[in-house]
Amino acid sequence: MKRAYNFNAGPAALPEWVLQEAKNSWMNFNDTGMSIMELSHRSKDYEDVHNEAKELLSSLLSIPEDYEILFLQGGASLQFTMLPMNLLEADKVGYYTLTGVWAEKALKEASKVGEAAACTSSKESNYTYIPALEEINVPDNAAYLHITSNNTIFGTQWQSFPTDLKVPLIADMSSDILSTPLDIKQFDVIYAGAQKNLGPSGVTVVIIKKELIKKDSSLPTMLSYETHASNNSLFNTPPTLAIYLLSLVLKWVKQNGGVEGIAAINNKKAQTLYNVIDESNGFYKGHAEKNSRSKMNVTFTLQTEEITKEFLQQAKEAGFIGLNGHRSVGGCRASIYNAVPLEHVQALAAFMENFQKNYK
Ligand code: PMP
Repeated sequence: MKRAYNFNAGPAALPEWVLQEAKNSWMNFNDTGMSIMELSHRSKDYEDVHNEAKELLSSLLSIPEDYEILFLQGGASLQFTMLPMNLLEADKVGYYTLTGVWAEKALKEASKVGEAAACTSSKESNYTYIPALEEINVPDNAAYLHITSNNTIFGTQWQSFPTDLKVPLIADMSSDILSTPLDIKQFDVIYAGAQKNLGPSGVTVVIIKKELIKKDSSLPTMLSYETHASNNSLFNTPPTLAIYLLSLVLKWVKQNGGVEGIAAINNKKAQTLYNVIDESNGFYKGHAEKNSRSKMNVTFTLQTEEITKEFLQQAKEAGFIGLNGHRSVGGCRASIYNAVPLEHVQALAAFMENFQKNYK
């Protein structure tokens, strides 16, 4: 069976190997006579999967010992609330870099929990760029600085990160975690919904410095990082199927040269599409400024809405899925997460070149 050319923004393409592996054990996981979904989350068979997923993530990203990995639910969106509930002290302000709609949502939720404010914004340009690091001014009353490392909707990505901060650096990495090597020590909390680079929807990964995890009995039990950290993310029933699939995705990353190997292919994929845009003499126009371009979400428009519509229609007929831009940007977006094969990106590039050639 031919797999679809899937450029969805999330949930998104999963590696074929992962789907095959899951299929092979669908009815009988590890000779238990049950599927993974039917096992108790307190059973050894499930706990081995759970712990293996943690170990794989830890080794792929070289996560230091003084960080905790949590598997939570509620998506990255719940982290918009849970993070300030746990880290925003009453006399301090959570500062947010507004680089897109998800950052706006994170700030909005934090403002319901405590005091939060934007310390930089590229909203005036419809989020075409990431601010220069020297423009980010974190006031003394900060509890933390929050960034969105990749802006899924606008197709911009931080190329380097603030350093020498006096406060914790928090990153929403939902749409680029595991796409390129990271120095985890630069961050104090990283969170990501799984449904782009890590697996299916249903599990949210949080990587948090242990010293930030505090017992606070005033917090609702399920919304306290401490609850989950002190119970190996098994305080209540975890999303066992999603964590199993996460463990398979992590194995696949390992088999493909780890994060370095994946990053090399990601570079090629992004370059392939940006080359078509840059060599099109303005037929295709990238939304993001060149020095802020995302390697995960390539956003572009064509000269008029009519041509854009025609492009999307023909692309759909040719079997390319998910190329419509988000409604707040319009135009087109190709999401080329880790699991999207290079050949699919090359097929899209060829389609774009042909469309331009044939357009009268
Ligand atoms: N942050 C970013 C950067 C995202 O791309 C998304 C989802 N597209 C979210 C947060 C929200 O994630 P979820 O749907 O898992 O709550």
